[in-house]
Amino acid sequence: MIDAHAHPGYVGVEEFGKVEGDTKENLLAAVKEYADEHPDDEWLRLCCWPTAMFVHGNKGPNKKELDAVVPDRPVWFVSEAWHDSWLNSRALEVIGVDKNTPDPRPGLATYVVDDEGELTGWIKEGAGWQHFIDQFGFADEAHKQSHEDKMKAALQILSANGITTLYDAGNFGFEDQVYSLLAELDIEGRLPVRYEGTYQIYTPDRIHEAIPEMKRYRKEYAGQRLQFNTVKLFMDGINEDHSGGMLKPYMDDASYVANTMLSAEELRDFLMELNKEKMDLHVHTIGDLAVRTVLDAVEAAQAIAKDDFYPRVTIAHLELIDPSDLPRIKELGVICNFTPWWLGVNHDDVVEVSLGEERYANMYKPKSLFDMGATVTFSSDEWWGGDLLRTYLSPYLGMQVGHTRQYPKEWWETEDDGIRPPDNERLSLEQLIEGYTRNGAYQLRKENKIGSIEVGKLADLVVLEKNLFEVDRYEIWKVKPSTVMMEGEVIQGSLPE
Ligand SMILES: [Zn+2]
Repeated sequence: MIDAHAHPGYVGVEEFGKVEGDTKENLLAAVKEYADEHPDDEWLRLCCWPTAMFVHGNKGPNKKELDAVVPDRPVWFVSEAWHDSWLNSRALEVIGVDKNTPDPRPGLATYVVDDEGELTGWIKEGAGWQHFIDQFGFADEAHKQSHEDKMKAALQILSANGITTLYDAGNFGFEDQVYSLLAELDIEGRLPVRYEGTYQIYTPDRIHEAIPEMKRYRKEYAGQRLQFNTVKLFMDGINEDHSGGMLKPYMDDASYVANTMLSAEELRDFLMELNKEKMDLHVHTIGDLAVRTVLDAVEAAQAIAKDDFYPRVTIAHLELIDPSDLPRIKELGVICNFTPWWLGVNHDDVVEVSLGEERYANMYKPKSLFDMGATVTFSSDEWWGGDLLRTYLSPYLGMQVGHTRQYPKEWWETEDDGIRPPDNERLSLEQLIEGYTRNGAYQLRKENKIGSIEVGKLADLVVLEKNLFEVDRYEIWKVKPSTVMMEGEVIQGSLPE
């Protein structure tokens, strides 16, 4: 089994104070209370404010409201979507951002300003992430230790689920912390998975560092199982904070200006560099404009390189794809990655309001892509999760939700949650298994070694407690492996008598 977009390295990197409130007033009162209870914290790093409470069109939360409860210390308050944050005035000062600071990428990675051009303190995507390592690097041994413990636990969960190989979709500036630790495990023979690390591009300037950094990681950290072959690029943001790259604007945001991290020409040129270096690319693409721009770039690069085009390009998440682009994905050989456990029915989804009914009813089309012969892979894409992390990391949860387009019945909020439309996008179990095995191996250029049971391959095998084809479709998520074998050696459970 292969997890083709995961974040085990990032588990435990973030430490937040948890504040909650059912109204704005109560939430702000909880922030004040937290500040009073933690007088010695230099930074107040909090989670999470609900998107629906604060984001309405182009309007989001405002620093003035935080200033009123915490005027003297910096507050970094992350949204429940994690891609956007709410900072007070002191925090903006500390990170050195004022109203003249340019956005890393307008419309996408931004410091939002109000109608008068004043910073609001709402910051999105890479505009925020780029400050993490400077402000929130591991200050003490305790944090370092808890990161190490949590990361190892996450790797163990993945391994116990039968995952033997994964693609790490990135660590938001904490690469050296994460990969030095993984390199130690690898040297000691205690890394339970083949681990494909990465460098992430979440502001346009990082494109210049990507290849040199990948080469440095190879030199400093690569080993038996830890490898670096695939660069990660955020082509757009997410719909929750209106930073998706969309062909048509959000219904509730007249001021929306669509953008992508790179133009098709810039991405084409970067692909030609990857071509020279023999590296692959994995791209975060939520909106249909982001998908189209990647396809245009791949098409242009292939036209230049002809038969010598090396990079395998994967597009991940794929909430919306314009119907005219579906066949291009297959023709260009672009790989599609989905996180199937996201595909259930969400009640009161803010995304439904901003996309409008028609687009909302046409999200996520893994089966169409599969049926037309595109290579589709699957993943967990989770590092947060809290008590549910163990559940979210399970490929069997992914299989069940991908198969039913419903969450497990135990999670339903109504008597019948229905099926996420379009209901003809429910994947077959065979497709899910293929995506989690053979196709994942192809994405990671390991199709000659793993991904199927064949003479000459490495004998990564998983024996499940139950036959997936006989289990009730609403019970698949509870299935576990009884044995996991890696390179012919039993690493979890034991062989049947
Ligand atoms: Zn991810």
